[in-house]
Amino acid sequence: MDYKGLSAAQYIKMSKDGDIDITDFYTRLNCELNTLQKKNNYFVTIVENTDVSVDKNTKLAGLPISAKDCICTKGVQSTAGSKILKGYIPPFDATVIARAKKEDGVLIGKTVQDEFGFGTFSTNSAYGIPKNPHDSSRSCGGSSGGAAGLTAALDMPHIAFGQSTGGSISCPSSFCGVVGLTPTYGRISRYGLIDYANSLDKIGPIGKCVDDVRLLYDIASGYDPLDMTTIKEEDKRDNKFDIDGLKLAIPKEYFPPDIDASVKKIVLDAIDKMKSLGAEISECSLPHTKYSIPAYYIIAMAEASTNLAKYCGMRYGMEENPDGKHFDEYFSDIRGRYLGDEVKRRIILGTYTRMAGYRDQYYLKAMKVRRLIIDDYKKAFKKFDALLAPTMPFIAPKFTEIEKLTPLECYNADILTGAPNLAGIPMLSLPCGKSKGMPVGLHILSDHMREDMVLNIGKAFEKAQ
Ligand code: GLN
Repeated sequence: MDYKGLSAAQYIKMSKDGDIDITDFYTRLNCELNTLQKKNNYFVTIVENTDVSVDKNTKLAGLPISAKDCICTKGVQSTAGSKILKGYIPPFDATVIARAKKEDGVLIGKTVQDEFGFGTFSTNSAYGIPKNPHDSSRSCGGSSGGAAGLTAALDMPHIAFGQSTGGSISCPSSFCGVVGLTPTYGRISRYGLIDYANSLDKIGPIGKCVDDVRLLYDIASGYDPLDMTTIKEEDKRDNKFDIDGLKLAIPKEYFPPDIDASVKKIVLDAIDKMKSLGAEISECSLPHTKYSIPAYYIIAMAEASTNLAKYCGMRYGMEENPDGKHFDEYFSDIRGRYLGDEVKRRIILGTYTRMAGYRDQYYLKAMKVRRLIIDDYKKAFKKFDALLAPTMPFIAPKFTEIEKLTPLECYNADILTGAPNLAGIPMLSLPCGKSKGMPVGLHILSDHMREDMVLNIGKAFEKAQ
């Protein structure tokens, strides 16, 4: 039997009906994954599943699930894309993995990412660079590039777990033409996530369609006693899939002057489509957007620089013989050799912004700006149900173009994803057209706890395509 083109929902139904030969399915899947790996490098580690048994009463019934490499998986190496964690095999599963496994989701591998999530193009990985399935000379986006590339390229049922701090689910979903949900901060447990910046990190699903993403979101989300930042509030799910009468707005700051003209046109056409489906479309303003990149990078780097202190060649991953070395000398030597350039840059900048003497000027100021950005959204969501924007201001760039970018230009690429991530609001990126043969993403943002809203709007749009 050919399993190509099956959606996750179709696979689950067939599996429950006893129409899937699970051994045959996983033999084919292993073969596909190895071929894709050789071609496009989506994995740090592939898990060869040879002995899968399925309980038909579970929600995933044997469905393949991948996890970004920063999500801890019991017995399977988890490096967060860094050489310093090479060989680190967690003795436990992250909550999202435990929840997926409980429903008979099957872990098929750990996907490539920018080292510790530091990047927008997945070019800062210590395990090779994933290639965009639509054009291998272009980036998958970052930092969950392997997750989105795999989701787009694998023509068999599968859903991925990605992770976002400042746009790492939305950006690669947009560049690879798949659907990515970044949930409200705290909606999905971060227990077992190798942190980038604790006040910003979110785990979220990436799938081929809105239903796939919703399925994994439902399983992974909800209060977790192991993560005290998880939210107890229930989902407001109504499954209306109807946008008739909804009040949607276009933030004028989300179409910056240097946005790619064809991306702008495709997104505005998609918004027109929403109008024809009955939504009321207005313009709004989020005036503090222009401060989002400096505020985001100051906060993210400050938190990252403390989180990374634990990687010193003693507790996790890389370990060498420290005999004869002072501890400082040993730590510096290991960190010097096994952390990448971008990681070092962020440790230095992050440490600087929270030093006594600079703290008020940078870190505390950035926290105040974060509050103003949240207030902008809160004001907008008093009037509107959701906001619509391009996910990224351009299509997936070529690697030759990325090489020429300065670090600052790379940071500025997050101009549309930084603010919603700082605010911790839910957002859905879904494909809405193509420019030069490459996918363009539409970003749907809503208020805290309104995953139902972004999913319903996304589903209504997808159905109308
Ligand atoms: N590009 C952003 C950064 O480098 C976001 C990355 C992420 O969300 N992990 O920080």
